Parts: sequence; C-alpha cells; structure tokens
Amino acid sequence: MSALLDLRGLTKHFPLSPDLFGRPKATVHALDDVSLSLARGETLSIVGESGCGKSTLGKAIVQLQVPTAGDILLEGARVNGQRGAALKAFRKRVQMVFQDPYSSLNPRLTVFDSLAEPLRNFGIAHARAELERQIGDLLQQVGLPRDAAHRYPHEFSGGQRQRIAIARALAPRPDLIVCDEAVSALDVSVKAQVVNLLGDIQKATGLSLVFISHDLAIVEHLTHRVAVMYLGRVVELAERRALFGDARHPYTRALISAVPVPDPKVRKTRTMLKGDVPSPLRPPSGCRFHTRCPFATETCRAVTPALRPVAEGHKVACHFDISPDGTQVRDAA
Ligand code: SF4
Repeated sequence: MSALLDLRGLTKHFPLSPDLFGRPKATVHALDDVSLSLARGETLSIVGESGCGKSTLGKAIVQLQVPTAGDILLEGARVNGQRGAALKAFRKRVQMVFQDPYSSLNPRLTVFDSLAEPLRNFGIAHARAELERQIGDLLQQVGLPRDAAHRYPHEFSGGQRQRIAIARALAPRPDLIVCDEAVSALDVSVKAQVVNLLGDIQKATGLSLVFISHDLAIVEHLTHRVAVMYLGRVVELAERRALFGDARHPYTRALISAVPVPDPKVRKTRTMLKGDVPSPLRPPSGCRFHTRCPFATETCRAVTPALRPVAEGHKVACHFDISPDGTQVRDAA
C-alpha cells in the first residue's frame, strides 16, 4: 500500500483571548508534534478520551483548522494552508463525515438537492438526468432505495441520515474520508451496520479512512491500525492485532480494559483509569500521562518520552517497558 497522507509534526495551539491589559491569557495545547501516515485503502483509527485532540486532528487534516506548525502531505505534496482552487481540488479528494449528519445535510433540502450540490460543485454532473442517475447510484451504494432522493432528512432514522451523509461525502469520489465520531450517536445495532457499510465501501473502492472514535469496541472491527492519543500527543501506534493483543502503554491498556466484556473472569483482571484528563491549558510536564499513571517516576515528570519502536510497525511513548500485569518495569532499551 502506498502512502496517501502524511502528517509531520502537526501542532495546533489555540491562544485564548487576551486579558484586559492585552496579555495573552493562556494557550490550549490541542495537538503537539503529531506525525502519522495513512496508506491507500487503509483505515487508521484515532482513539482517546474526550479532550485528547482527536477531533482537532481530524479538522486539521480536512483543513477546517489551520495547524500552528507541521505539514500535511497528500501523495507527497504539501497541502496545508491552501486556498481557492487548490483548496477546492483538495476538498474533492478529502471529505469528512461528522457525528451529527445535520452538519452536512441541510434540513430544508431534499436528499436529491443535498447530494446534487457536491456533484455540481466538483464538476461531476450537471444535467438533471445524469444527476438522477448518479444520486440513485450513491443511495444504493449506502444501502438506501433510489427513491429516497425525493424525501427530506427528517423523514429518515438517525442511521439512515448518517448513510445519506456518507453518500454526500462519497459524491466527489474522494480518496480519503475522515469520520469524526461518525457512529457514536447511533444505536448499537445501527452502529455495526454503518461500520460494516464503511468497510464494504472501502473494499469496493479502495477508499482510505481516518476513523476518529472514543469507542474501542467499534474500532476493533473496522481498523487496520490505531493511533492512541492523550492530551494532544500520540502515545501508541500499532496495527489492530498488536494494539488489542499486546498494548504497551499504560493508557492504552486502561482504555482497552474499559471496553465492556461479557466474561466476568476477564472483567476481574481489568485496570480502570482513575481521574480526569488534565486541562490542555496547562498540560503536565514530561509525560503528560504522569498524573494518572501508576508507574510514574521523577523522569516521567521531567522528560517527554519519544514515540519509540517496540516491534515492527508498533511504537510507544513511554520511558519504560512494563509487563502486562504491571509487576515488572524496566528502563526502555
Ligand atoms: Fe507512565 Fe512514565 Fe510511561 Fe508516562 S513515561 S506512561 S508516566 S511510566
């Protein structure tokens, strides 16, 4: 698989409004030095608790947020900071699906009009007959009948509305769709259907997906690789099997422990995450996880751990190698 997207040292800080004397009050450290890549036809999931920076990362990728530093490359070409025709060409290739389908569907427009807009804008179809044909095909692609085109968004269930939002994102035939908590608001069974739909579309079209979610159970079914984020930084990056079977970072292990499991014996061995994520206004020094980590030392409080390789395709940002049961803690080699 060749690289489609490269993120290099992506950083996004939000300075808050200055105080009465014009002095900047504080800065929200939403993203710090995030470097990731995505291959064609691959799904990379970004997971973490609320406030970890995953949605900011998604918005930066689709250029709804301008990064403070770092680069976004699409097939090797730097794309951040684009405007006008270049930005339009980028948007044709990179689309986004939000948690709330109404973010991309105007409730006053029929499904036909909502889907016709990107087809016209990106010069894919203009004539009525061609629009009818392509919109019917898009609806079928997302498992809806062709005649759904002539109804309004409120006439559909939440899951069906999200299918329409996916059809709209697919309309310009993008290379990449960023799904930001796209199934989080749906019922469990509907979630699974929409996730399966995304998987089927990917197999049929070679689409790449960045799947942002706090729900590891869903991620496990869909993804090829996972990046775990904590307070704006990537703390672990691995292929799905390695992450769910051999997580190395204490935060990742705690997140996986929090996934509901039916077996009470498994539940007994869980390690629960204590406390809340600290404020991104004043992230902790050194390893940002040190305030919640049972293994934290003075080194952790002073030195930021680099994302280091621990196995083929598996990286972790921790100063130590910690055994799965937490009984052995060794300095990283
Ligand atoms: Fe915990 Fe220290 Fe590793 Fe951070 S670097 S995860 S605080 S042991």
